Amino acid sequence: MADSGSTDLRQGEVAVDPAQPHDATVQFIGTIRTPYTTRDLCPRQGNLDGPDCRLELRPEWAQALKGITKFEYLDVLYWLHMSRRDLVLQSPRGDGETIGTFALRSPVRPNPIGVSRVRLIRQDGSNLIVKGLDCLDQTPLIDIKPDLCVFTPQAPHKNADGA
Ligand code: SAM
Repeated sequence: MADSGSTDLRQGEVAVDPAQPHDATVQFIGTIRTPYTTRDLCPRQGNLDGPDCRLELRPEWAQALKGITKFEYLDVLYWLHMSRRDLVLQSPRGDGETIGTFALRSPVRPNPIGVSRVRLIRQDGSNLIVKGLDCLDQTPLIDIKPDLCVFTPQAPHKNADGA
């Protein structure tokens, strides 16, 4: 049976030839270091009590961590760089039963962005030690945000925000 990183299609899966040009660019702000050296070793979703992982920021983005240690939980966005990007229907169990890509959290998607809510353990200079990731070692890091559930906007109130 093909794994999620294989170029082989499983029974019932459908790939497309994307018509749109790839016209957006993402700049990676760093690299994620995890103990997971193969996709099979990665959990399907991270565990907040899992192993320590390290978000290594590029030096030019280190200042952007100012204020981050007041948050216990963060949302981390990363680029699942080993994924194929052309499947519209996927068969997660490999049994021919298919589900649409947008109804899955599979790494196989047109723009392979992964999102995990992580627990911040500590800051170590331009690195953050966190728990709760599910990605391969050396996965490119896209963004870090305070966890939405506890975040209070720092910018002034707008009418559109409601009461
Ligand atoms: N938590 C993220 C989400 O929900 O958006 C990702 C979930 S995805 C199911 C996690 C799986 O992606 C892992 O179990 C592994 O099989 C695969 N994976 C991890 N890192 C990857 C990478 N850099 N490139 C491609 N696949 C990866």
